[in-house]
Amino acid sequence: MVNIDKGKAKGYNAWFECVNGCEGRHSIKEVVYRCSACGSLLQVVHDMAKLSEKNSDEWKALFKKRKHGNEWPYGSGVWGLKEWVCPTVDNENVVSMYEGNSNLFWAERLGKEIGLSDLWIKLCGNSHTGSFKDLGMTVLVSVVKQMISDGADIKAVACASTGDTSAALAAYCAAGGIPSIVFLPKDKVSMEQLIQPIANGAMVISLNTDFDGCMKVVQEITNDKQIYLANSMNSLRIEGQKTVAIELAQQFDWSVPDVVVIPGGNLGNVSALGKGFLMLEELGFIDKRPQIVVAQAEHANPLYRSFLKGFKGFEPITAKSTLASAIQIGNPVSVQKAVDILEKFNGIVEHANEQELVDACAMADKTGMYACPHTGVALAALLKLKKKGTIKKGQQVVVISTAHGLKFSEFKLKYHTKTLEGIKSNYANAPVECDPDLDTIKKIIDNQLNR
Ligand SMILES: *Cc1c(COP(=O)(O)O)cnc(C)c1O
Ligand SMILES: [Zn+2]
Repeated sequence: MVNIDKGKAKGYNAWFECVNGCEGRHSIKEVVYRCSACGSLLQVVHDMAKLSEKNSDEWKALFKKRKHGNEWPYGSGVWGLKEWVCPTVDNENVVSMYEGNSNLFWAERLGKEIGLSDLWIKLCGNSHTGSFKDLGMTVLVSVVKQMISDGADIKAVACASTGDTSAALAAYCAAGGIPSIVFLPKDKVSMEQLIQPIANGAMVISLNTDFDGCMKVVQEITNDKQIYLANSMNSLRIEGQKTVAIELAQQFDWSVPDVVVIPGGNLGNVSALGKGFLMLEELGFIDKRPQIVVAQAEHANPLYRSFLKGFKGFEPITAKSTLASAIQIGNPVSVQKAVDILEKFNGIVEHANEQELVDACAMADKTGMYACPHTGVALAALLKLKKKGTIKKGQQVVVISTAHGLKFSEFKLKYHTKTLEGIKSNYANAPVECDPDLDTIKKIIDNQLNR
């Protein structure tokens, strides 16, 4: 029997405000995604005065205790930070599968290969549905459950997705007993990503368009207030995703690395990462900001293009097909938030082509990882920045690995069997087929071991 403290986090509060600072607040439980005055996205703002009533040592002790306990829902890496994330949901309405608390490890061998002595990988894909999207979705779906329990007339939650958002939405809605609708670009998500929402009982609508086309459709569909929008333009997700920054600092004993590299598509995640660090700074946990690097696929690089012009102006593009399908986005909804964060964090944008990303994955995998293509984009970007001298040997660098490689096995199989179109399999390790004849097998082994 799980013991549930029904109360909200007493005295703590958070609400929506326009990112441009237009006047007015909206309740977290209002069905609203954009500022009614200027049309920009909203952001969640916390009562920081209340949060600073506890000093950082008191918070650290509380977070530490929760991490090792199992009192609902605080054992979750997201809900262990409930007061900082979403204090106005009752614990009994929290929909959680104990996401977060993902491992951060020292990638010693990979670091050596690329000339970095202090390289770390944060494996955010080691999570319930295999990507970091769980972190935001637990918050959003919990708020919806709270709204329904308060009497709101919400019939379903919907999203457009490049595959991982829909998997997370479907799983969390299923766990919370709420219907979900997902719009996917046909033939542009992996088989694993397609089957996840199907298995979890979502209404799966496969559209003959790309992600940006799905995004347009879901915005129309969710003009109907009975269907709640779950894309990251809904800033509730950012609140859950920002816990990655806080977890990172905690894992480094409340210090921050020199550089964090993160792959970017719709640019919600980099906005969230920065927001987490800013909150740590404001509450006196850290006094230094890491440099943030956004890595984009060359086939979907509108932010990179804008970066080259010093972020003066931004032009959406039509994204071309990329193996990093979760970031195949030409018109990122959170671009304004992301640029704001990059300007505060000495930000850089780098891009990587298809050859570079698959080779980076293969190199990482040979040191024990199982990198998804988006993590491959981040690793390839890091390699390029190291070569240029932008990132230096002794710097402490963290790469945010956004999904589990097992969701993207098909491209690895094709890479190693040299059947990826237009790609050279520079690090291929194809299986050897032979009859069960000992002499033949011994010869093959001798050959491989160079004996
Ligand atoms: C969603 C996603 C991203 C990109 O995150 P954004 O917030 O859209 O920038 C990167 N990698 C994976 C695996 C994803 O699922
Ligand atoms: Zn506004």
